[in-house]
Amino acid sequence: MIDSRSVEDVDAQVADLIRADTARQNSHIHLIASENFVSRAVMQASGSVFTNKYAEGYPGRRYYEGCGVVDQLEDLARDRAKALFGAEHANVQPHSGAQANLAAYFAFLEPGDRVLGMRLDQGGHLTHGSPVNASGELYEFIAYGVDQDSELIDMDEVRRLALEHRPKMVLAGYTAYSRVLDYEAFRSIADEIDALLMVDAAHFIGLVAGGAYPNPVPYADLVTATTHKALRGPRGGLILSREEHAKAIDKAVFPGTQGGGIFSQVAAKAVCFLEASTPEYRDYAGQIVENARAMAARLMAEGVRVVGGGTDNHMFLVDMRSIDEELTGKQAAKLLDAVGITCNFNTVPFDPRKPFVGSGIRIGTPAMTTQGMKEPEADETAGLIAEALRHREDPSALEGLEQRIRKLADSFPAYPEGFPGHV
Ligand SMILES: *Cc1c(COP(=O)(O)O)cnc(C)c1O
Repeated sequence: MIDSRSVEDVDAQVADLIRADTARQNSHIHLIASENFVSRAVMQASGSVFTNKYAEGYPGRRYYEGCGVVDQLEDLARDRAKALFGAEHANVQPHSGAQANLAAYFAFLEPGDRVLGMRLDQGGHLTHGSPVNASGELYEFIAYGVDQDSELIDMDEVRRLALEHRPKMVLAGYTAYSRVLDYEAFRSIADEIDALLMVDAAHFIGLVAGGAYPNPVPYADLVTATTHKALRGPRGGLILSREEHAKAIDKAVFPGTQGGGIFSQVAAKAVCFLEASTPEYRDYAGQIVENARAMAARLMAEGVRVVGGGTDNHMFLVDMRSIDEELTGKQAAKLLDAVGITCNFNTVPFDPRKPFVGSGIRIGTPAMTTQGMKEPEADETAGLIAEALRHREDPSALEGLEQRIRKLADSFPAYPEGFPGHV
């Protein structure tokens, strides 16, 4: 017999933790650039009976019986993804962004092959060749960075490195960079050396869906992404590609790097693609960028240095050394969380500090925009950040600031009608 009691009745410890994090989520201003709050519909689909279904393979080609419904679901999710991004092919099975990237490499590269990607300490991602990640162990990554003065990706350097090392794949995409990528230039460099162009759009795919950031799909051979960042879907990954690469990519996801798909997550991805195709979502995506611009502008007006001088997307890096040479990113992020603003520390380009300390904090606006904040609140939040950091050694000032932050956060709870789960 299936136990139909709620988690509350079955497991008080986990129920308490769910409640505790609900309270945390509802009581802070959330500025972690990769986080968001999903809708009740996404949450429901993600917690649906599809979690019970095993379906290795793809629609029409399964290794198990009883897959008729799951086939319809996966087709629906794929069709919606293709329509949303104008892609010829979509694979919606990757369990995460890292899995999507691993499958993408596995589809086209042999161990030892070269990839040209962005430096990890200047905005690239762990899965772009870090020595502690499988990508770094299996493939030879060559790294390009940003120009020291402009802090923009140096396309001359990308081209020079491409011609010198002739990688099999050129990789564009970032986890901490605030400007538009020059897809056309990346494409022409890849063409010049007969390489594949992969764009890792994990961070900004949600802006692309809402028309608030240029779409890489027309330029790239393949685009990998997550569904849980600005896109506001369930935790998961996605690969979009040209039809000519469909077979190789599907094979690399399953059976190459994964087992059966997680179809409750695929159901929730389908819901998120539908939500992301609405006019309301377009407004949301535009507001994310407006909020990021408003925050960056206010911080710069407060005399705080924003890396690259501003933002074109949903995030930016703030250099703590412009407040105090001694202040580290880690100290700043900890202090801000203590007063009710959650973000993360990060290295800035040419950072003398180690990645686990960093000289910067990364600020992102997808979650606070879902909380309902607009430019005035973005401006206010940026002001509060600057004030908190300046008064970091003044407990009574911090106490006053915390109260103001709590009040602002309380006016914009993520889930005003209560948590959409089961507790
Ligand atoms: C977040 C991110 C990933 C990894 O996504 P996970 O779901 O955490 O595995 C990969 N690439 C980039 C650029 C990212 O920002």
